[in-house]
Amino acid sequence: MTNQSFSSLALKPELLDALNKAGYETMTDIQSAALPNLLDGKDLIGKAKTGSGKTATFALNLLNRLEPKRYHIQTLILCPTRELATQVAEETRKLAKGMHNVKVLTLCGGQPMGPQIGSLEHGAHIVVGTPGRIKDHLRKETLKLNNVDTVVLDEADRMLDMGFLEDVEHIVGHCPAQRQTLLFSATYPDKISSLAKRLLNNPVMVTVESEHSDDHIEQRFIEVEERNKQEVLARILRHTQAATAIVFANMKQDCDDLAQSLNDLGASALALHGDLEQRERDSVLTRFMQGSCCVLVATDVAARGLDVDDVALVVNYDLPRDSEVYVHRIGRTGRAGHSGKAYSIYTAKQRYKLEILEGERQQALEYLDAASFKAKGSFPEPEFVTIEISGGKREKVRPGDLLGALTADGGIAGSEVGKIKIVARASYVAVKSGSMRKALNILNEGKIKGRKFRARKLK
Ligand code: AMP
Repeated sequence: MTNQSFSSLALKPELLDALNKAGYETMTDIQSAALPNLLDGKDLIGKAKTGSGKTATFALNLLNRLEPKRYHIQTLILCPTRELATQVAEETRKLAKGMHNVKVLTLCGGQPMGPQIGSLEHGAHIVVGTPGRIKDHLRKETLKLNNVDTVVLDEADRMLDMGFLEDVEHIVGHCPAQRQTLLFSATYPDKISSLAKRLLNNPVMVTVESEHSDDHIEQRFIEVEERNKQEVLARILRHTQAATAIVFANMKQDCDDLAQSLNDLGASALALHGDLEQRERDSVLTRFMQGSCCVLVATDVAARGLDVDDVALVVNYDLPRDSEVYVHRIGRTGRAGHSGKAYSIYTAKQRYKLEILEGERQQALEYLDAASFKAKGSFPEPEFVTIEISGGKREKVRPGDLLGALTADGGIAGSEVGKIKIVARASYVAVKSGSMRKALNILNEGKIKGRKFRARKLK
């Protein structure tokens, strides 16, 4: 099934062009199995995970059908988290680039309603959002779904895990009965099949394995005594010198405690869990993605849909609930052809869990002695610091404005500046530690877009 070219499909030339520009030469398995059916108008159940190319699968289908001249919402995509919704919107926009004037709008919680209502009044073709917020807009009648012809439920199993079943049904109930419905899910428990029976019409079922195999992830299991868990974790971090690591813990409180004690030991760690306010969450994620923090201590829920390219190391500080979660966690490392490490620590009492995992994965686990982690040197230091600037999209700040202020006007070498991220009311720019003072001076003293902004280092 692999290696087929997209040109065998009846896609709009603008889409073939966008695929070319994106560097997508051949179809992934899910694309070659699903797209011919989708372009035929059939409903689909896709059993596929992140990494399979599922987003492009549904994006190509809906863009191919979309009529940009009709200023109605024609597609609704429901996602479990804001991060996933953002990723989906980005991929869709990337593929829509050659089409004239296609408007993709994200509607997620944790952000004010007002601007979303404003954008809806301006008109959009594609809405990507989380169930809670979409329901709010339906209740306020600021969103109308009566012209929708394609509905996508992405990561449906996670939406149900998060308690969105009723909301999903309620929302789809607002769409015309005459529509194409696509449901993607990594797992296929009974509650998903009954949901699919209610919402889909004679669907085609496509199952694919993830494009990521975990062959190139060094997976090891390390037995520790309960009281030594933190110390072993610290040794792993110092031994591997991983520039980026995600440590998974099962409890929110443990995330805070662990991040705190790692920082006390001299590591650069931040906690990510569901109790953070949206602003704190944005700041934690930005710092991790910009390389100004090396270790993220996260719960599974908080890490869902987390859009990180590739991390050098995953540590299961607490064992995951089952093999699905295990695979999902370790899939954060060893991406895009890199090699990765995934270390899981457990206590003697938890040995039975490993047997279950071994059975489910049908693969012998490999063990490592905790003593093999020699605490060489100190913890890795972040390469960058993140500077927050008090102006964002709303103030029309663009990445080029910041880069220009720092390099052209301020005389900082381009190689000293890292990733830049702009959100509604703030911008974040990564600079190498050595240039931090200079960058803060330039940003606080000078003007951007003719305005003065405040800049501070995120701590
Ligand atoms: P997804 O499973 O949708 O999260 O996609 C995983 C990654 O694969 C994304 O970064 C896509 O940009 C990329 N991708 C999707 N389709 C293709 C393709 N046909 N060729 C190369 N990369 C692709």
